Amino acid sequence: MFRVTGSTILKAHTRRKTLRKFGIRDYSDKTELPTQADVVVIGGGTAGCNVLYQLSKRGIKAVLLERGKVTNGTTWHTGGLIWRLSRPSDVDIKLLESSRNTYMSLEQDTGIHPGLVQNGGLFIARNDERLHEYKRLHSFAHYFNIDTQIISASEAAELSPILKPTSFKAALYSPGDSYIDPTMLCSSLVKGATKRGSQVIENCPVTGIITDPVSNIRKVKAVQTPNGDIKTNCVINAAGVWSRNISQMVGVDIPLTPMKHSYIITDSVPEVKGTPSIRDHDGNVYIKVQGDTLHLGGYEINPEILKDVADDFTFGLYELDKSLFQVHMEKATEICPIFNTVGIKTDICGPESFSPDHKPLLGEDPRILGLFYNCGYNSGGMQLSGGCSEQLAIWIATGQPEIHMYNYDITRYTPHQRTDRAWITETSHESYAKNYDIVFPYDQRLSGRNHKIDMFHEALVARGAVMEQVQGFERPAYYVKDRTVPVRGYDWYGCYEHVENPDKRYEKELEGERTFGFSAHHHAIGEEALSIRNSVGLFNLSHFTKMYLTGPDAQEAADWLFTVDTDLGAGRVAYSCLLNSKGGIEADCTVTQLTEGVGTLVGPIIKGKGYYIVACGESGLQALSHIRKELIKKNFKSVITDVTDRMGTLSLQGPKSRQLLQSVTESPITDDKFPIGMSNLIKINGHVLRAMRISFVGELGYQLHIPVASCIPVYNKLVDAGKGFDLEHIGFRAFYSLSCEKGYHLWNYDIRIDDNPVEADLRGICRENGQYLGKQHVDKLKKHGCYKRRAFFTMQNDVCLHGMETVWRDDQIVGYLRRGNYGYSLDCSIGIGYVQHPKGKIVDDEFLKSGKYEIEVADKRYPATLFLKSPFDPTHNRILGEYDSEVQEQDHFED
Ligand SMILES: Cc1cc2nc3c(=O)[nH]c(=O)nc-3n(C[C@H](O)[C@H](O)[C@H](O)COP(=O)(O)OP(=O)(O)OC[C@H]3O[C@@H](n4cnc5c(N)ncnc54)[C@H](O)[C@@H]3O)c2cc1C
Repeated sequence: MFRVTGSTILKAHTRRKTLRKFGIRDYSDKTELPTQADVVVIGGGTAGCNVLYQLSKRGIKAVLLERGKVTNGTTWHTGGLIWRLSRPSDVDIKLLESSRNTYMSLEQDTGIHPGLVQNGGLFIARNDERLHEYKRLHSFAHYFNIDTQIISASEAAELSPILKPTSFKAALYSPGDSYIDPTMLCSSLVKGATKRGSQVIENCPVTGIITDPVSNIRKVKAVQTPNGDIKTNCVINAAGVWSRNISQMVGVDIPLTPMKHSYIITDSVPEVKGTPSIRDHDGNVYIKVQGDTLHLGGYEINPEILKDVADDFTFGLYELDKSLFQVHMEKATEICPIFNTVGIKTDICGPESFSPDHKPLLGEDPRILGLFYNCGYNSGGMQLSGGCSEQLAIWIATGQPEIHMYNYDITRYTPHQRTDRAWITETSHESYAKNYDIVFPYDQRLSGRNHKIDMFHEALVARGAVMEQVQGFERPAYYVKDRTVPVRGYDWYGCYEHVENPDKRYEKELEGERTFGFSAHHHAIGEEALSIRNSVGLFNLSHFTKMYLTGPDAQEAADWLFTVDTDLGAGRVAYSCLLNSKGGIEADCTVTQLTEGVGTLVGPIIKGKGYYIVACGESGLQALSHIRKELIKKNFKSVITDVTDRMGTLSLQGPKSRQLLQSVTESPITDDKFPIGMSNLIKINGHVLRAMRISFVGELGYQLHIPVASCIPVYNKLVDAGKGFDLEHIGFRAFYSLSCEKGYHLWNYDIRIDDNPVEADLRGICRENGQYLGKQHVDKLKKHGCYKRRAFFTMQNDVCLHGMETVWRDDQIVGYLRRGNYGYSLDCSIGIGYVQHPKGKIVDDEFLKSGKYEIEVADKRYPATLFLKSPFDPTHNRILGEYDSEVQEQDHFED
């Protein structure tokens, strides 16, 4: 079936000659290097050129150093497709929009057309589930004012005559989708940057980066080239598939893997001129329409993974392995029979950089101050690097991005994940192979599992824990009663001569999650949630990040870092935000003041005051890196020590938690000795541990922080004693349902870097006295109000909410949900999101309480009720352990 006609496959050598003659121009405006630069950008592909342009627009004169010629890496042979919608993520969509807006405004700014052609795009749905996914995207696009239409297969075939309408169900049409010419784009960007004083120097490889020690890390001082050094405090690594080589110059590794990616170009098909490009996710293929040719590419399950790419691979291509590409020809032919007959003019197979989660790598390296990343674009660099580079330029200029970039930030990876090659390669493989899979809310990856397991892991799996992974940690999602479901090693889907796992228990379990409706485990998770409300449950929170803040300036540092007053007395625990200078929420955590100790891990000897800080899941790494940077910036004589791996954490929650805990310890667990917000060292089974009376689920409850060696004996004792209290093991699916139901905040979802505490209904933990980072902004917002406000929604219909659903008020779009869940006690679907005023005014309680609300799910609107706070236990009696009091009247606002 794979037929090649005409010039067939061009060799890299031939192509280089041809391009030099017709397309390549010199960008260098100087041969001599400057001795100093505010920022040095390494690499002249789309990432480097975009960030150079964005920096120069912000008044930063940067120098771009390119080893060969601008575009000669991956950029020159790109497919260049620029879609407006991709994953169900508000951040992704904002970044795509930002790229598009930049590209559309370039000609006016620079006088050079960037080669953007807007021919529209069609997403093809071959089945109902995919159609549902597209309908969700379509609904979400309404919030962003992106023109999209759900159309029938025959309507799609009218727009694109090559489509066979009987081969699929329907399509999502986005008229604003486009493609771009990489050479024209980079020309335009370079012109825009150099006219503002930035420089591009070609044929100038960076051969080294000089660093200086600062505190216990290092900071960038200069870059080295054969033509001399450039002093700088800021380097951007935009070296595409060679980015790892750049990082290795300062002795650090980054989680990127080069792989081959390819497309073929057909002979002329006159009838496609001007018709939309096509994305057939179910067939794992995309088809770009350029002029009268079709460019067909795809994501095969067995891509060729490269060890590295040679330094002299400029304007280079690989021979296409037709046996690998054949699957794309077959899939494309199913929806576009023309591929059966049309000739193939040529093919493009080049290197591209892929990451474990298919998201680029941005932000500052936590190990090397001043080393920023703009790489790892996962075959989306043309469409994403415009937006990402804009955010990176803002980041460098002001200290933080405007958009919540955590899922792109290098800090999202644990130190171990950044360097574990086996983990990086298998996760990057799966992300590539599954790139076009439907993104189900609770699906789990099969690669990179059991990367980090805690002391309780084996015992919990034996009890029926079905694991999910977060930041490389395994944690129980939920429990099954009648079987065990271990996660096996990655079998690469049988590719590369790996033997497929015979044990499919885990994969089978996941099948129940592959839906946008209620999961097959909905009721089991509900039972777990309700057992917390009615009895007592045990959570394993060991992956929470645990840190000590110590040193002579610990109190001063805590005052600066935390919004809440932390100087509350020894053993007092407070929930706090950590803000950036613009008042954005960098992380949240609990902070326990310590003044003395017995010299153990859980009770260290502290001179003066110190703090034990615990941050949940994704907030943990962010909190750690934020605190580290601030300690250096402010020159505090204080250190932050990560002790996550040295302690396990269990939590007992529910009405019977106090009785159970008291039954295993002689330390008093009474209200007067152990009130809410208190932390004490207690002894269980002869083992000393730190207990805290706090709750993430809205119940009477305790967290137990246990040295690794004591984990199993303490766990066994609790489980044994728990038999008398109906103790149940509870997973994180129930955890998040309970915490959402109580209206608690979840960082990276309903509180993020682009939210501030006043918008997020957290003004109560922002103190009036003293100074803390971001206070100026918070005080201003407290006084004047804000333009968006966090709100809680309940649904009357039996519709599933997962987050990213559009919120309507009186027939106008006013926001979207950041997360959705099912509240098993409220017995309805619930959501948390932000509401804006349609006229851009300040949002006050009155505005929120009035109006008729609807939530749009998959192209259909459902009535919703807005609450300023969750209606679940609004007077917090349960947290106080007051279970006998009357059920409080719920203060909701219904029309
Ligand atoms: C077949 C294929 C199809 C694709 N299709 C699309 C698409 O349709 N849409 C889309 O958005 N994306 C697509 N992509 C992805 C996109 O093309 C890439 O993500 C993007 O071009 C990467 O740009 P970059 O600037 O990160 O890397 P590059 O373009 O590789 O630039 C890195 C530069 O760094 C330079 N360099 C390396 N080391 C040094 C050093 N020591 N000193 C100085 N300079 C150095 C290199 O010479 C190179 O020029 C596709 C990719 C492939 C392979």
